[in-house]
Amino acid sequence: MFKKLLIANRGEIACRVIRTAHKMGISTVAVYSEADKLSLHTQMADETIYIGDSSARQSYLVIEKIINAAQESGADAVHPGYGFLSENPRFAKALDAVGIIFIGPPSTAIELMGDKITSKKIAHEAGVNIVPGFMGLINDVDEAIRISKDIGYPVMLKASAGGGGKGMRIAWCDQDVQEGFHSSKNEAASSFGDDRIFIEKFITHPRHIEMQVLSDSCGNCIFLGERECSIQRRNQKVVEESPSSFLDESTRNAMGRQAVALAKAVNYVSAGTVEFIVDKDKNFYFLEMNTRLQVEHPVTELITGIDLVEQMIRVANGESLAITQDDVSVTGWAVENRLYAEDPFRDFLPSTGRLTRYRPPAEKVAGPLSMDGVSSSTTDVSSCAVRVDTGVFEGGEISIHYDPMIAKLCTWGYDRMSAIEAMRVALDCFEVEGIGHNLPFVSAVMDHPRFISGNITTGFISEEYPEGFTQVELSADCLKRIVVCAAAMNQFAEIRRTHVSGLVHNNVRKVGKAWLATVLDDQFKVEVTTDPEGSVIVLDDCAPYRVTSDWTPGNTLANICVNGTSMVLKVQMVTGGFRIRFRGADLNIQFHSPRHAELARLMPKKVPPDTSKLLLCPMPGLVVRIDVVRGQKVQEGQSLCTIEAMKMENILRAERIGVVKTINVVANDSLAVDDVIMEFE
Ligand code: ADP
Ligand code: ADP
Ligand code: MG
Repeated sequence: MFKKLLIANRGEIACRVIRTAHKMGISTVAVYSEADKLSLHTQMADETIYIGDSSARQSYLVIEKIINAAQESGADAVHPGYGFLSENPRFAKALDAVGIIFIGPPSTAIELMGDKITSKKIAHEAGVNIVPGFMGLINDVDEAIRISKDIGYPVMLKASAGGGGKGMRIAWCDQDVQEGFHSSKNEAASSFGDDRIFIEKFITHPRHIEMQVLSDSCGNCIFLGERECSIQRRNQKVVEESPSSFLDESTRNAMGRQAVALAKAVNYVSAGTVEFIVDKDKNFYFLEMNTRLQVEHPVTELITGIDLVEQMIRVANGESLAITQDDVSVTGWAVENRLYAEDPFRDFLPSTGRLTRYRPPAEKVAGPLSMDGVSSSTTDVSSCAVRVDTGVFEGGEISIHYDPMIAKLCTWGYDRMSAIEAMRVALDCFEVEGIGHNLPFVSAVMDHPRFISGNITTGFISEEYPEGFTQVELSADCLKRIVVCAAAMNQFAEIRRTHVSGLVHNNVRKVGKAWLATVLDDQFKVEVTTDPEGSVIVLDDCAPYRVTSDWTPGNTLANICVNGTSMVLKVQMVTGGFRIRFRGADLNIQFHSPRHAELARLMPKKVPPDTSKLLLCPMPGLVVRIDVVRGQKVQEGQSLCTIEAMKMENILRAERIGVVKTINVVANDSLAVDDVIMEFE
């Protein structure tokens, strides 16, 4: 077995690979850039090597620097993770040339599968279903329109070198092709340095379902079940699960057999993923093969009990697979949510800064991975597994230089509903502060009736959240329970305040039982009676609630039991009440004594400052371009300026017609949140 493994990556995936290497007794080398000096993967590795400036182009993407680091440290193998150099055939070849093992497929397989047109042709020859379309290059718009008509609308224009959802456009008519052709070509040229475009049928009601394959160098290849990744935003995955609620056993096996046939056709070795798009009649078509470990591989590990990184290391070491297709059994259900440093309340803009708080839920082993096996079927959350793949830590900095995905949260249960319920609770317990992040959004998805029904397509997010994500609306019953929890905490905090040292006992202020709670536009009359075990709370003279809790002032998480049902709330004390977060909702609940409430009604309302004539920077980033000049009249929707952060260019657009009065920044300026970019007349 290898003695020393270098991980040519960063973030959660570097940490994840290090975990398995250590489990196998292999020592690890981390490489790191300037921005990653204090990062988690360098803390976890046995050795660390500095490889250059923060920009990936000067560090993680430089083949020579990684090879030097591997040689300098005496590593005998390199794991590339995903992204960066993982699908770069030149990297695999360069390692080969110096006698270091690349933990992944042969460079020829990477090369053949790296190009979408070539891989489609090979898949077709191997008997794999492919999306109907034109498998050649398209040179001009007229040809593109002619081909699109032949295929039949809707069609999809795609970059042959594409990845990460870039360079793709749907076209429903000639005019869409006319407009989309050039923008696809430009995006492909700037993202991949390769502007080749092809066209295929756009599959309607599409579901993204992919097959995990695993091959050794002795000719064995197996599939480890599918993952459904239909919950996507702009063609990027957000939620994944395994198995898929859509596949039946015969479709699953047919898909698995085709994935294996394709892997064999390119002499594949290692773990790989064959992606399919599936239509509403369960017809499935090959999309592409990802010749690396996939972001969402943990859901497969949770239902099969197989450590994919360990398998990759073993087959790279020349071992033959110890598992046959018949040994692969799937138990229960697993769900993954990706934690992105993107603010869902600000149109998912990337968010950077210091993690002032980062407390993931406790991990828990259960299911195929646990020693006690699977004895009984139950939907009890306590028998579920929780796995957190993290690349960050409390106090650490999220920089503008890399991918906004900073961790993954997975849960496993005996069936889909128990895995989802375990996920909801795990999300409630996950504390992240200091940056904008998508946990409220994925919480909302986990509660969405359409997600729960399993009736999902890749259009789910754009169809269900057409105006973007705003406040989650809790049911009236749920809102009442939260008010009840807050009332119990408020009473506890008020009584605590009367005990503050120095007060003479018989001078202690009496805490009243009656309160008026205000949340959103609702008001509730509250009456609280406490006893040594908890409290009884009456809302608006209705049936009483019995509340017990472990919360004390200062705790940011509260485990509260209301009428026998427990819930976990994120709690922050604010003037006059609490900010409470639960299941994607973010509420400010205020408590007034009856007298205080009367007086509060007389107070003037605070008017927020008028920022309608300003363009404020929505996130920290670099100014790429200013698209307007002083005195220019702009139309609604017109682009004003482009800001780059976390590999994404974000165009800021005019919200209404106006005239530019001043411009305060120039290209290459680095901006903070709410910096004034320009003012309007
Ligand atoms: P997955 O199915 O594993 O999520 P993705 O296509 O979303 O695969 O990509 C996984 C990772 O690789 C992401 O971090 C993404 O940003 C990165 N990535 C994908 N394609 C490219 C590319 N062509 N260049 C750079 N990074 C890429
Ligand atoms: P990438 O390399 O960027 O991951 P893919 O070809 O895997 O590109 O496509 C990414 C996503 O785009 C898919 O998961 C799917 O949601 C959508 N997509 C791609 N091709 C089609 C198609 N022909 N019909 C419908 N949706 C598609
Ligand atoms: Mg893909």
